[in-house]
Amino acid sequence: MGYENVSFPVGSKFLVTGSAGFIGSNLVESLINQGFKVRGLDNLSTGRRKNVDEFINHENYEFIEGDIRNSEICKKACEGIDYVLHQAALGSVPRSMKEPLIYEDNNIKGTANMMEAARLAGVKKFVYASSSSVYGDSPILPKVEGEEGNVLSPYALTKMVNEQYGRLYTQNFGLECIGLRYFNVFGRRQDPNSQYAAVIPKFIKAIRSGKQVEIYGDGEQSRDFTYIENVIEANLKSCIAPIEASGKAYNVAYGERFTVNQMFSLMCQLLEVELKPKYLEPRVGDIKHSLASRENSEKYLGYHPSWSFTEGFSEALKWYKENI
Ligand code: NAD
Repeated sequence: MGYENVSFPVGSKFLVTGSAGFIGSNLVESLINQGFKVRGLDNLSTGRRKNVDEFINHENYEFIEGDIRNSEICKKACEGIDYVLHQAALGSVPRSMKEPLIYEDNNIKGTANMMEAARLAGVKKFVYASSSSVYGDSPILPKVEGEEGNVLSPYALTKMVNEQYGRLYTQNFGLECIGLRYFNVFGRRQDPNSQYAAVIPKFIKAIRSGKQVEIYGDGEQSRDFTYIENVIEANLKSCIAPIEASGKAYNVAYGERFTVNQMFSLMCQLLEVELKPKYLEPRVGDIKHSLASRENSEKYLGYHPSWSFTEGFSEALKWYKENI
């Protein structure tokens, strides 16, 4: 798995925000399975009730339905917490191109509220979700922390602002913050039904419901698709990373890129279907290529992901076969 040997003081308590979402619910599951006490916080805006219901009766789990835009809720959620894994945010680059202001509210104000609440509660580490989208229009590959371009969407801008808050809170307010720049995460529980669904669950849903898969552009855009287990590892290792690691953000990916066409072919092969996709106009705000350098996350967080894209992809497809 890559995080079996990560240990925490007995009685450690975690807060996972965005716990009804894809990544948050996987973090909750993993922490509960490891015997930790976990509190979840989510307003169920893009998250799903069934991701809450799955754990709600577990003795080590507690769920608060609430909004990170409300500072009092954030304070209540942080009471007695040792580690915060902050995932709550509005995702989706295309949605942010249509509704930029709600991103400001949820992602910037919401994250600032959470950092302040965590500081007041004396939280040991505040680990938060950033995104590879902060690299913006930089053509440099692989993407290395410190070599960002101009952001291409309001969503990416919110993540960049979160990172600046994380630096300030670490340097000036005594809250150790670590940002994780996730690169195209995929795996179980990723929602295929949303209008803004991520590419992998969206393709699977189309194939399984007999619809033609639609690819934006020529499909030669590439992504560093990252399996959820690697993201869990990065979160847990960030909690125990040395103080020198704080105040910065790190790439979280496997470090290998596949084009959307290659991913689609592999999907067809594993699902045993022969299909041709339909190609659409490229999408505004999308980047052409993405590939992460793992040098800094390995060095400062001890992150050594054990799931390659192809290994994770066949696990994810098994789950989708049973759940879509
Ligand atoms: P998701 O939409 O499945 O989960 C986000 C959760 O946050 C949802 O359950 C939603 O209801 C909740 N939420 C949103 N606004 C909230 C608010 N104001 N108050 C309380 N809860 C709120 O998305 P995800 O894919 O699990 O993403 C988790 C985090 O990782 C996000 O911060 C996202 O920007 C980041 N990220 C994800 C990816 C990816 O590939 N999935 C890539 C880069 C970054």
